[in-house]
Amino acid sequence: MTKLKSFFSLPFLFSLLLFLGSCDKDGGINFFSINEDLKIGQQVAAEIEGDSSVIVLNEQDYDTAYAYIRRLTEKVLASNDIRYRTEFPWQVKIIQDDETLNAFCAPGGYIYVYTGLIKYLDTEDQLAGVMGHEIAHADKRHVTDQMTKQYGYETLFAIFFGEDQGQLAGIAKGLLTLKYGRDAEREADDFSVKYLCDTEYQSNGAAGFFQKIINEGQSSSPPEFLSTHPNPDNRVEAINNKAREEGCSIQPSGNNYAAFKASLPQ
Ligand SMILES: [Zn+2]
Repeated sequence: MTKLKSFFSLPFLFSLLLFLGSCDKDGGINFFSINEDLKIGQQVAAEIEGDSSVIVLNEQDYDTAYAYIRRLTEKVLASNDIRYRTEFPWQVKIIQDDETLNAFCAPGGYIYVYTGLIKYLDTEDQLAGVMGHEIAHADKRHVTDQMTKQYGYETLFAIFFGEDQGQLAGIAKGLLTLKYGRDAEREADDFSVKYLCDTEYQSNGAAGFFQKIINEGQSSSPPEFLSTHPNPDNRVEAINNKAREEGCSIQPSGNNYAAFKASLPQ
């Protein structure tokens, strides 16, 4: 219970809020090319991994954990609905931070998942659902869309392709807390279902994540994001409806998720 309580501490709720974050998407045009998405992603990933305050799990010491999460990601990425399946590198890294329930993706498919999120979830299907959601943010290029809205195209271009490298660290850090619009969140939820539909996973796996937040939120005060952001209730329903509409299986895969959690630093 202590653990659970700590999940709902203020910083924790803040991370949750950011993961679920929303502001209206204005449907703007993405000014960056696919190659530029890739280059931005590379620079951001290098910056994140060079940041001493972000502990990326070492691949040699945690090879079992990496083998597990890469296998899972490969299964999701096998979907024909992923447009840049072969163009993006789709790199997955685990960030050691048990207090942060989050995952994010840099442009070009550089995915980061926090140990806090992995340990919070109960099944591989739920994690596959969240991974599908993050993959959709990169594949639909929500990341560069949102960064452009936040910083402006010229600023971003100067940082990633010009003389203004000084701000790169700030932009990389901002990605950890980047908020997407409501439409982008909905689209990422929908595509998570579509990707998982082609796998052994329960297609509404992401709904399991939101349902867990709802169940566990009942014992604490209502999270503030419920009033101003698309709430988990709506998202559970929307994800379940999408699975039904698409005729996708909602049978749990029953894969051994406990073994994955056990392979992480305790
Ligand atoms: Zn999202």
